[in-house]
Amino acid sequence: MKITEIHVYAHDLPVKNGPYTMANAKVWSLDTTLVKIVTDTGLVGWGETCPVGPTYQPHHARGARAALEEMAPGLIGSTLHPVALRRRMDGLLNGHRYAKAAVDIAAHDLLGKAWGVRVADLLGGAVTENVPSYYATGVGEPEEIARIAAEKVAEGYPRLQVKIGGRPVEVDIEVLRRVWEVIRGKGVRLAADGNRGLPTRDALRLSRECPDIPFTMEQPCNSIEEIAAIRGQVQHGIYIDEAGEDLATVIRAAGQGLCDGFGMKVTRIGGLQQMAAFRDICEARTLPHTCDDAWGGDIIAAACTHIGATVSPRLMEGVWLAQPYIEGNYDKAGVNIVGGHIRLPEGPGLGVVPDEGIFGAPVASFG
Ligand SMILES: [Mg+2]
Repeated sequence: MKITEIHVYAHDLPVKNGPYTMANAKVWSLDTTLVKIVTDTGLVGWGETCPVGPTYQPHHARGARAALEEMAPGLIGSTLHPVALRRRMDGLLNGHRYAKAAVDIAAHDLLGKAWGVRVADLLGGAVTENVPSYYATGVGEPEEIARIAAEKVAEGYPRLQVKIGGRPVEVDIEVLRRVWEVIRGKGVRLAADGNRGLPTRDALRLSRECPDIPFTMEQPCNSIEEIAAIRGQVQHGIYIDEAGEDLATVIRAAGQGLCDGFGMKVTRIGGLQQMAAFRDICEARTLPHTCDDAWGGDIIAAACTHIGATVSPRLMEGVWLAQPYIEGNYDKAGVNIVGGHIRLPEGPGLGVVPDEGIFGAPVASFG
């Protein structure tokens, strides 16, 4: 099976009750990029990449499409085997893993369809059919975030993530206190996500003033160096998210003991092939992690759920999906969170059949 055509689409995903607020960004709608790969067998596979605005990471939607246009002519005729395909992409373009991820996801979709198996089976095998998710609040006022926390725990979410940063740390401390009051004793895990937004001074205060609240601190500060500077002084576990740019960084952070776990994005690390390697590195060092995406539609949601289903349950921190936050599915059934968990799509491949009519004409076609 070889690639004969590649089509790139742009599609808008509006945020429900927008904007969604993080320490460094407000998001009203998402510009997602979809990739359709056609093969010489007639089988078709879909991939997606959707940066959550241009400031969350050094990724942006038009950058993804430019990178895909740079690589696509050199991918016509390529095999779809994920390791060989990744090496071929690396030979065509340095970096830009978030764009390569869309091709990698489409390749997994195609291999699953060709072999009659789910993507989770290609990635090592599902350990659950009901994958745990978690809910992420935006940055908000204490009463409002506590209300959302109570509601989401009642819905069945096993984990909550509260966004903090970009304002006086006293407010963030108050948010965590109010949230802990409503979820304490309910068996729900709690993360405080700074999205790179806290000075080390504020991250230290947050930990020192909340010794009784068992949250993990997710990417509190901008860089690995800042996290390393506070690492020995805080009482809470630290997870690295945005700074975990690639496998080499993950190996460095795990090897030097710079964190207790990771928030990881399938597109940031380069797709499902690299994500499976990341999962195995984390398991070798007993590091919990998420399997998220930095937003997107049903294709990304399915990709994250398939890899999430293969993670050892004791290390699984959940699959975060944009689905509750955006308007509209483009798959008939959609990939949805029910009771804080996601049903693993049945496949073959990703198990998502997009209604491509709503994407309009491709913005670029090759082959
Ligand atoms: Mg995060």
